[in-house]
Amino acid sequence: MSTNASNCRQIRDRLSSYLDGELGDELRVDVDAHLEMCLSCRQQLQDLKELDDACRMTLGPASLVGKSRAAAAARLAERIESASWGGRDEHAQPAANSADRATAAPRFLLPFVVAAGAMFCVWLARPPRAPDGPDLPTGVGEVVAVAGDSKIAIAETPGAWRNLSWQGQRPIVMPAGARVRTLAATCELRTAHAGTLRLNSDSEVVLHSEDRVELVRGEMWCRGAVGRELMLIAHVKTQQPSLPESSIVTFTCPSATEVQCSVPPDASQASCFSNGDASCKTSTLECSVPANTLVTVPGGGTAPAMQPADSARARSWQLPLLHQLGEAGQGERDALLEQLLARIGAAKASYLLEEDIRALGPAGAPPLLAYARSDRSRARPELRRRAARIGCYLSTPTSRSELQQLVSDTDSEIATYAKQAIQRLNDAADPSE
Ligand SMILES: [Zn+2]
Repeated sequence: MSTNASNCRQIRDRLSSYLDGELGDELRVDVDAHLEMCLSCRQQLQDLKELDDACRMTLGPASLVGKSRAAAAARLAERIESASWGGRDEHAQPAANSADRATAAPRFLLPFVVAAGAMFCVWLARPPRAPDGPDLPTGVGEVVAVAGDSKIAIAETPGAWRNLSWQGQRPIVMPAGARVRTLAATCELRTAHAGTLRLNSDSEVVLHSEDRVELVRGEMWCRGAVGRELMLIAHVKTQQPSLPESSIVTFTCPSATEVQCSVPPDASQASCFSNGDASCKTSTLECSVPANTLVTVPGGGTAPAMQPADSARARSWQLPLLHQLGEAGQGERDALLEQLLARIGAAKASYLLEEDIRALGPAGAPPLLAYARSDRSRARPELRRRAARIGCYLSTPTSRSELQQLVSDTDSEIATYAKQAIQRLNDAADPSE
């Protein structure tokens, strides 16, 4: 089978249906065969999957599954139009008519529309101000927020589990040695030294002390307290009968760093990465882990593996929690959204034809502008220009402050696009000129 451009185009039109399991056997076999030999289409499929995951996490698991996706996308596109742009087309270009074309966008674009919409719904729906709570927790920590399903399980003494429904009014105090297990929920704990610990769904931790936390399984993210080292512990199981059944892995992270740690359900390994220089220790070895490096320690004394990691992607599951935290989580949530939007913008600018991107209408502007403003786009000036040009073309008054930042861009071409876009918005706002 050839992998020429028109063939790729055909395959890409089918990727969304392929992901939803909606293709007939014959077409599915075609797509499989093409994916096997075409790296670029495989990458696009991977991007679509990631966007899907981001959407599910942002909107909740029930709202965006399989066939309901197209309907949800259409609904979101409507909400985007009416919520953030007041339902009015501000575009001055005669041929744009982007709102009509957005609804007629090919089906494989829907995940992009949904992703942009999902981000925006979270962005726009800012909850009321959370009560200020600078008081440090009693015990070694407190559960301060739960998102998703409200149920978590807590055991203050080993084995004595009780199920709790989070009501949101007051923190749940954790004594030393307490366990927290999330089911479908995610939750945030604050330690007695003002560190932060977030647990993904289907995870379990033991709070041995304020600065020593054991991850039994699942995924957690922590921000260590100022002036205190954070120790993360995992019991990793060995598959070989000649070795002890499990070994302890300890990651030590410097004060006030951000750390992500995960242990799969079978506890066959433990992975950790931090934005500071950390160290990793088992009964047989000790090694240092440079900042922003993912270290994975398998059971059985095998050497750890290290690779660079993308922290924004790893953190996307925290969006609903940050939303739940209200104003307290707002700065962090905006920064994370901006990073995720930049990823979506990069995917759009890389894979979609310009006419398809334009067909997204105003929903396409924020991710593209976020990408153009991100550090990651600096290494790819051509792609950055493309994203900026289309993002500026699609922009509406809500993107004014983003445009303003691009006006002083070091790339004069990008600065010109931004100036023209602002001029267009000004002209539309004042029809007398
Ligand atoms: Zn291809």
